[in-house]
Amino acid sequence: MKYDIAIIGSGPNGDALACALADTNLKIAIIDKQPLKKLENPKIDGRDIALTHHSIKSLKEIGFWDIIPKNLISTIKTAKIFDGNSKYSLNFEHKDIKKDFLGCLIPNYLIKKYLKQLLKGKKNIFSIESELLDIKIHDDYSSLTLSNGKKISASLIIGADTRFSSARSKIGISSFVQDFKKNMIVCRMKIKKNHGKIAYEFFKYNQTLALLPYINNEASIIVTVSKENSEKLLKLKIKDFNKEIENNFNYFFGKMNLIGKRYSYPMITVYSKNFISSRFALIGDAAVGMHPVTAHGFNLGLQGIEILCKEIKLALKNNIDIGSTPILKKYQKKLHRVAIPIYLSTNGIVRLYTNGSKPAKVVRKFALRAVNSIKPLKQAFMSVLE
Ligand SMILES: Cc1cc2nc3c(=O)[nH]c(=O)nc-3n(C[C@H](O)[C@H](O)[C@H](O)COP(=O)(O)OP(=O)(O)OC[C@H]3O[C@@H](n4cnc5c(N)ncnc54)[C@H](O)[C@@H]3O)c2cc1C
Repeated sequence: MKYDIAIIGSGPNGDALACALADTNLKIAIIDKQPLKKLENPKIDGRDIALTHHSIKSLKEIGFWDIIPKNLISTIKTAKIFDGNSKYSLNFEHKDIKKDFLGCLIPNYLIKKYLKQLLKGKKNIFSIESELLDIKIHDDYSSLTLSNGKKISASLIIGADTRFSSARSKIGISSFVQDFKKNMIVCRMKIKKNHGKIAYEFFKYNQTLALLPYINNEASIIVTVSKENSEKLLKLKIKDFNKEIENNFNYFFGKMNLIGKRYSYPMITVYSKNFISSRFALIGDAAVGMHPVTAHGFNLGLQGIEILCKEIKLALKNNIDIGSTPILKKYQKKLHRVAIPIYLSTNGIVRLYTNGSKPAKVVRKFALRAVNSIKPLKQAFMSVLE
């Protein structure tokens, strides 16, 4: 079977790339080890994804905004960040970026569901239920061996198969991996006090807590704790869990009640040393697996897709091989330029705001005030939300 592009991984990034290229005449295979039925009806996974205006624009361009029900999307007007036990907060307001809201919040399973729906009926996109076993690169094409016994070939292979990408390993690209040795517990809770469309982040000295405002005064709760404590939190009876979270938030939101399940994610970040190889490119978490604390993972993934699509479409227009190295090099250079500052600053924030030593506590307080009061610094932080 011959394709122009074979995408390994039908997650949000793999699917968003396929959607963005659906208007070309390229024949695209999208391969995932999970059954298609399961991918089309994804289960709630506890992640609520905060999206920037840039991402909303990208999702509008591929038609996603036309099909997702708007009553399932919430908007975030303000973000407030607190340090330790202080009542002082660093504030980001929608007015600062001259928009009606800072960003919006969509549950991850809905992003997956509606991207899949968008792909249905696209005549040039072919879904293949199979696991990647092997990749071989030749001068003018690449071939994949799949677990269903089939071999396929394509001009360009895309690795979009998680931050622990097996496509990346098979090609021989190594990555910088940082294990923060913490887990993130995420869940949905109904809260008593009105969240007022404000997102909160509390960098306490023993844990990080966040609340993202969802519809019907529900909230996405994110607690980052040691692996040992995360086990305890997951096992607590619902009544005790509610009490524990109310208490951790110092009753800031009044009574809180768990809705649905609790989910746990290990905090391991990954930055691939290269985003490309011969006839091969990495996108999404397979290229850069971000720490979720600054909510940039999928946002960055969409920026990468935008860059790659522009290069592919330009190559098509000029009759250039889409898998050729000069095309891929341009993608790599542009993505590094966007990704490195976001990746390093996010990991730096995590390291500083999970450090409870005396000098760190002083720097933490100073940094928060500095960003709040030094205009260019604040603008630099706000620019990623535009
Ligand atoms: C708790 C949490 C909160 C987050 N919050 C935000 C946020 O607010 N904003 C934001 O922008 N981002 C956020 N993110 C990040 C975001 O969820 C990810 O960046 C995004 O989901 C990654 O999508 P992906 O398609 O790259 O990978 P994945 O979703 O991991 O999908 C990869 C796909 O590849 C398939 N696959 C894997 N191996 C193979 C193989 N060998 N063969 C075939 N198929 C394979 C898998 O089955 C899967 O379907 C958050 C992440 C977490 C954990």
